[in-house]
Amino acid sequence: MADHIDFEALAGAMPDPVLVVDTDVVLHYVNPAGAEVFGWRPEVWLGRSILDLIHPDDVANVLSSTGTMQAKRIGTPVEVRVRLADGTWKWVEIVGYNALDIEGLHGLVVVARDVTRRRMWEVAGSDTVRFQQVVQHASSVTLLLDRDGEITSVNAAFTRLLGHDVSHVIGRKLVSFCTTDDANDLEFSIEKAGTEVKPVSCEASMRHVDAARPPLPMRFEIVNLLDDPVVEGLVVTGYDVSDLHHARRTLEHLARHDALTGLANRSVLLDELERVVDDHRNAAVVFIDLDRFKPVNDLLGHESGDELLRKVSERLLDSVRPGDLVARVGGDEFVVVAYDLCDRVQGQALCDRIDATLSMPYLLIEGPVRVTASVGLALVDDDATVTGLLADADLAMYEAKAARRGEPERSISQRQRNANERRRLADDLAAGLGRGEVVAFLQPIVSMELGATTGLEALVRWQHPERGLLTPAAFLDLAEDAGLDLLLGDVVLRSACAAIRDVDPAVSLSMNLSVTQLADRALCDRISGILAEYDIDPERLMVEITEHATLTRRAGGGKVSPEHTLEELRALGASLCLDDFGTGYSSLTHIRRYPLTAIKIDRSFVAGVIDHPEDRAVIAAMVGMAGALELEVVGEGVETEEQLAALRTLGCDKVQGYLIARPLPPDQVGDWMRTRGRNWRAPSSSSRID
Ligand code: C2E
Ligand code: MG
Ligand code: MG
Repeated sequence: MADHIDFEALAGAMPDPVLVVDTDVVLHYVNPAGAEVFGWRPEVWLGRSILDLIHPDDVANVLSSTGTMQAKRIGTPVEVRVRLADGTWKWVEIVGYNALDIEGLHGLVVVARDVTRRRMWEVAGSDTVRFQQVVQHASSVTLLLDRDGEITSVNAAFTRLLGHDVSHVIGRKLVSFCTTDDANDLEFSIEKAGTEVKPVSCEASMRHVDAARPPLPMRFEIVNLLDDPVVEGLVVTGYDVSDLHHARRTLEHLARHDALTGLANRSVLLDELERVVDDHRNAAVVFIDLDRFKPVNDLLGHESGDELLRKVSERLLDSVRPGDLVARVGGDEFVVVAYDLCDRVQGQALCDRIDATLSMPYLLIEGPVRVTASVGLALVDDDATVTGLLADADLAMYEAKAARRGEPERSISQRQRNANERRRLADDLAAGLGRGEVVAFLQPIVSMELGATTGLEALVRWQHPERGLLTPAAFLDLAEDAGLDLLLGDVVLRSACAAIRDVDPAVSLSMNLSVTQLADRALCDRISGILAEYDIDPERLMVEITEHATLTRRAGGGKVSPEHTLEELRALGASLCLDDFGTGYSSLTHIRRYPLTAIKIDRSFVAGVIDHPEDRAVIAAMVGMAGALELEVVGEGVETEEQLAALRTLGCDKVQGYLIARPLPPDQVGDWMRTRGRNWRAPSSSSRID
């Protein structure tokens, strides 16, 4: 080491800023660290008062510190804000040393230290105590994770919900508390959050400390604050979503099961048959129809009818092997799918067994009854199709029924006659579509809050020259079988557009789409063409799809997936509504797949909202679910004031139904909009002025 210290070099080597000022705080020297910390070149400030660099609120502190320094040699340290070259402020602690009498200095030496970071901690700290209390007592879980996903802080909600003691939680990974099934997903989400600026959300089932308790489904939001100097971690907020899961399960069960008997419903059956056919699995399909069910209902009342159907279901379940499927597909119709059964002898034995069990007397509360069943069999073979199998089993059942009555020929010829009639009707429809017999009736959709008409739903009607006005039930499937439904869709849209030409552009137009339309590559182009013809903004269009339509898989032949068509329509500006909600597979995952804006609660639930608590509960669950997904809820089929009031209480946004208006013929739409458009209950005042 040198025996003589070079003080210039010393000042240059100091990591903290060192300044020398005179008694007027005019700057005479600044070391390189000072220039670097404050960001300006020394020439700019040499010879000027450093007070110009100090925040106006802190000037008094500096002056008082220099005052004490003149008397005491070492001044009191003060914290002040110094203006940097870029105009921002930096907190520094400065302490002065009186070197006025020291040879070679003759000034006040000021040493400064950057304390910005510490100040931030202090500011955060003063808020932290209060905030900690808030977080600690919040109902949602709040956790802080480090870069490796290990928990560094946790609030009381975690212990309250899952029972784990805080001391066992800190330092462990969050994923170690979730079920093995969800561990990968959660881990992935945490890793993803660590690399992204956007918050990441995920769901995971979390284990309770008491292993006997079921895991708790939780939704997590992870926010990346790893680069925040105060937090330096991932902030995780978690909510208990078991209510939502429960609602989801109830809906899924309801959507797949018949409420009365608890058996699988038609959609499950179709799904299952599709699988059997795809897998070429050996199976027998048995169609069962009760022969004398109606008299039981009529003579003993509906309750006895229901009781009988429940007993029939139990007997059916008892007569098949575990794993076979029993579905209720209509009022008194059932279908059994018996697996691994490949020959007709075995199949017939099963049919006989079912026939025999169902024919035994039933002891109902009202007294004993006896019904018989007609049973028909179809076997899955190599070129089986779902509709073919059901039709074969149905036909066999029909023949059995006719044989029982001793009238085989007539029944079969009746079916033949039906087929001929359908063919004739299909020819009529093709001609009628060209002759303008098919039109759209429009049913108002009103806002619950205002009573104003916000939309009109196009519902197809066929003015048949001989049979009168026909509703879709009479001809829609016919149109589909005859390949006329794309044309029908276009005709309906044109008719609806013409009818709403003079209607307020704020009113939307809803149209129903069939399975075939959804699979049509050119649908979106045609729709946009028709809308343009009538000068109607595509934003006004609301497309209604049923869950069944979106689920039906159609392959090949230039067909596209429903998702593709729906995305295209969305891009065009149209909104999407899921129609008949609750009657298909209403699973959340399924709903999330589509860019929906609204759901329409099926009329069967609305019909039961007053008398059946289950229907009410299901609607409540649907409204809750829609709320969570920010979807609008429309209640359809409202026929009474009581139903309207109940839907209002349950939180429906919009309603539609005979109470408000039946579907209106096109020429009555303008009139409705003028007189009832603003409030469906009362003719509006404007109509009186007119
Ligand atoms: P949706 O779309 O669910 O239409 C609602 C149905 O409920 C309509 O039957 C309507 O007339 C009826 N409705 C409305 N309010 C009430 C009420 O208060 N009480 C009762 N009991 N019924 C009410 P509609 O017109 O017979 O149509 C039946 C179904 O046919 C529609 O169900 C829709 O899925 C389909 N559909 C109708 N028009 C078209 C169309 O142009 N294209 C396609 N692909 N399907 C259509
Ligand atoms: Mg509809
Ligand atoms: Mg509907």
